[in-house]
Amino acid sequence: MTLAHTLGYPRIGARRELKKAVEAYWKGDIDQTSLEATGAELRARHWQAQRDAGLDLVTVGDFAFYDQVLNVSALVGAVPARFGRFDAGQPVDLDTTFRMARGRAPSGTPAAACEMTKYFDTNYHYLVPELHRGQTFAIASQRLFDEVAEARAAGHAVKVALTGPLTWLWLGKVKGEPADSGFERLDLLDALLPVYGEILARLAAQGVEWVQLDEPALVQDLPRAWQQAFELAYNKLQSAPVKLLLATYFGDLGDNLSLATGLPVDALHIDAVRAPAQLERVLDRLPAYKSLSVGAIDGRNIWRADLAALRETLGDAKARLGERLWLAPSCSLLHVPVDLDAETTLDGELKGWLAFARQKLDEVATLARLLDGRADASDERRLAEAGAALTERRDSTRIHKAAVAERLRAVDADATRRASDYPDRARAQRARFDLPLFPTTTIGSFPQTGDIRAARRAFKAGELDRDAYEASMREEIAFAVERQQALGLDVPVHGEAERNDMVEYFGEQLDGFAFTANGWVQSYGSRCVKPPLIFGDVSRPQAMTVRWSEYAQTLTDKPMKGMLTGPVTILQWSFVRDDQPRETTCRQIALSLRDEVADLESAGIGIIQIDEPALREGLPLRQAEWQGYLDWAVECFKLSAAVARDATQIHTHMCYSEFNDIIDSIAALDADVITIETSRSDMELLDAFQDFAYPNEIGPGVYDIHSPNIPEVDWMVQLLEKAAEKIPAERLWVNPDCGLKTRGWAEVEPALVNMVEAAQELRRRY
Ligand code: GLN
Ligand code: ZN
Repeated sequence: MTLAHTLGYPRIGARRELKKAVEAYWKGDIDQTSLEATGAELRARHWQAQRDAGLDLVTVGDFAFYDQVLNVSALVGAVPARFGRFDAGQPVDLDTTFRMARGRAPSGTPAAACEMTKYFDTNYHYLVPELHRGQTFAIASQRLFDEVAEARAAGHAVKVALTGPLTWLWLGKVKGEPADSGFERLDLLDALLPVYGEILARLAAQGVEWVQLDEPALVQDLPRAWQQAFELAYNKLQSAPVKLLLATYFGDLGDNLSLATGLPVDALHIDAVRAPAQLERVLDRLPAYKSLSVGAIDGRNIWRADLAALRETLGDAKARLGERLWLAPSCSLLHVPVDLDAETTLDGELKGWLAFARQKLDEVATLARLLDGRADASDERRLAEAGAALTERRDSTRIHKAAVAERLRAVDADATRRASDYPDRARAQRARFDLPLFPTTTIGSFPQTGDIRAARRAFKAGELDRDAYEASMREEIAFAVERQQALGLDVPVHGEAERNDMVEYFGEQLDGFAFTANGWVQSYGSRCVKPPLIFGDVSRPQAMTVRWSEYAQTLTDKPMKGMLTGPVTILQWSFVRDDQPRETTCRQIALSLRDEVADLESAGIGIIQIDEPALREGLPLRQAEWQGYLDWAVECFKLSAAVARDATQIHTHMCYSEFNDIIDSIAALDADVITIETSRSDMELLDAFQDFAYPNEIGPGVYDIHSPNIPEVDWMVQLLEKAAEKIPAERLWVNPDCGLKTRGWAEVEPALVNMVEAAQELRRRY
C-alpha cells in the first residue's frame, strides 16, 4: 500500500479563525484559555480533514500561533536574553513567543522583536533564530508534546513534523559577534543535537513512530562544511528510537542528491513538482531499506492535479518501490489557501481547474489508491473529473488568446531599448522639467485613511455607486496634491487613494486574472494575503491609471509622477499558471503595462514610476539559476518601460537592502531614476552603486517610513552628505524609503517638511 500523507496543513482556518483569535487575544478581547481553545479546535479539524481524506498519517507540529520556526526556537530554548531567562527549567510561554515575534504581548516586558525574513522563495516569513557564541539549548516548551498527546487522544496515527537541526541553524543568524570573529552558526550544532535527540526520545515515548525533519536547506547551495554537518548530525540522530523522514522541498537536490539519499534515515521526501527530473535519479540511488515520499501534488500553487498523468509517471516508482513508496504534496500546504469549497464568487468553470489545501489532500489519497489499483468509485469519479477539467482548461478560449500570443512573438530587441542612452535622455528630461538639484519626491502612496477605506468598503458592498466613489477618490487626490504643493515637493504624486493593494488594483483591471473570496494564505503571524490567480493570457482591455494621473496633473504645474506596479512584482505576488513558463506570463503583463506607459505619456504624464519591490524575491534558490531569472526579469521591466520617449522620465522603486550581488541587473533596468530603501543602512547601501559606477539617478531613502518618529532635518542632511560622497550630487534625489500608506497625515506632513528643508540645505551647499 502506498502511504499517503502531507508535510503540513495551513493552520489559519478556512475563515481565518486563527488570525481573528490571535488578534483578539493581543487586543485583550479574549483570554489565553479561549485562544488555546481556538487553536485546539483548528488542530482537531485539520487532523480530521487529513483522516477523512484517507491519509494514513496525520501531521502534528505544523500548528503555530505565530510561526513554526519560532516554535522550534522555543522548543529548544533559543530565547534571546532580552525576553527573560528560561534556563531554570521554566517553560517558554505563549506570550514570550509573541514578544519574540512582535516585541510585545498581553503579559511581559516589551523588548525589540526578533528579525523576520522570507522563508526560502515563498511569500511566508519566519522569525530568524538568534544565535550566539556559548549558547546552550534545552527542551523549553511542552507545546509539541501536548499536541502529540492531543492528536493521539483523538485516535489519530501521528507523524510529527519539525524543522530539522541543520535547517533551523541555516535559517538563524549569529548576533553580537564581530564579522571577523570566525564564529559560525554551525559551531552550535554540537550543542543543539543532543536536544533534538531528547525531543525524538520523548516523542517515541509518547508512541510516535515517524518524525519528519524538514531540511529544505538541502535544495540550496551548501558549503562543504554544511554538507559534512548533515552527515554528522544524521549519523547521531539515527540512534533515536523513532523512524525519521527527511523532508526536502522547494527544488532540486542537485549536488546534495547523493548526500540526501545516503543519510541514515528511514525515509526521504523529495519535491517532484518543482524538480520532477530528480525522481529518476533518486530512485537510482535510494538504498533498499529506505522509503521515498514523492511530493507529487503542487504545494505551492492552486491548480488541480493531472491525476491520470501522475498515475502514469509514478507507475515506475511504484513498480520499483512497492510498499516503500509514499505520496504527499510537494511541500507543506501552508502556502496555498485552505478550502476551495469556501469560494462563493469564482465561476464554476474556473473553480473546476483549482485545488486548495483540502482538495489536495483528496488528490494525494486518490493518487495513492490509483497507484495501488485499489481505487473506489469516488476515486474513479475524481480521476474523470480531473481529466475533464484539464482538457477544458487546455482548450479554453478564456485562457488562450491568439492576439496576446501573436504580440509576444512580435517582440524584438528594439522593444526593450529606449530610443537613446541615458545621458541623452537626461539632457532631454532636464530641459523639459528643469528640476532643482536634489529634487524632492515621494514613493507614491499617501495615508490610506479611515475615510478612504470606508468609501471603498461601501463601494464594494454596493452602498456607494461608482460615480460617488470616484468623486470621493478625486477629493482625496486633490487633498494629497494640495498638501504636496504646500510642502513644496518638486515631483508630486496622486497618492494612490484608489488602490486597495498595489497588485490587486492592476489584476482587477487586467484580463487573465481572477480573485478569490477566501483564498487567504499566511504571510507572517496573523497577517494573511489573498494573492490574485493568473489563469489566462494577460491583456489590458483599457487604461488602468490614466484618468487618475491626468486628473491629478490638472491640479498642479509641477510634473505629476504616474505610478505603476511592475510586471515582476505582479507576477511574484500572484498564483501563476503552471501551463507556461513564468517568464511568458511576465512578458504578457509587461506588454499590458507598456500600453499603460504609452497612454500615460500621451495624456501628458512626463514622469512614470514602475515599482519593482519584488524583483529580488524572484531570485531562484540556487545561485546558478540567478542570471537566467534576472535576464528575463530585467527584460520584462524594460519591455514595459522602453516605449517611453527620451523626454519621459522612468523611475523605479525597490525596498530591500541588498543590491551588491544583483547590481549589474539593477543597472540593466536602465531606469532614469531609482528610489531605494537606504535610511536604516546609513547610506552604506550606496556603496554597491558607487563601486559599480552606477550611471543613472538615485533617490536613496532618507527616512524610515516604518517608524512613526519624525526624522530630524540635520539627520537627513547628514545622510544626504554621505550619499553625495558616493554618488555625484547632480544625480541624487531626495525621498522617503517607501510609500506612506501605512502612516497618518500627522506623521507624514512634519516628516516631509523636514525632508524638503534638508533638500534645500543641500542645495545651498552644492
Ligand atoms: N508606490 C508604492 C507605494 O508608495 C510602492 C510600494 C512598495 O514599494 N511596496 O505604496
Ligand atoms: Zn517600497
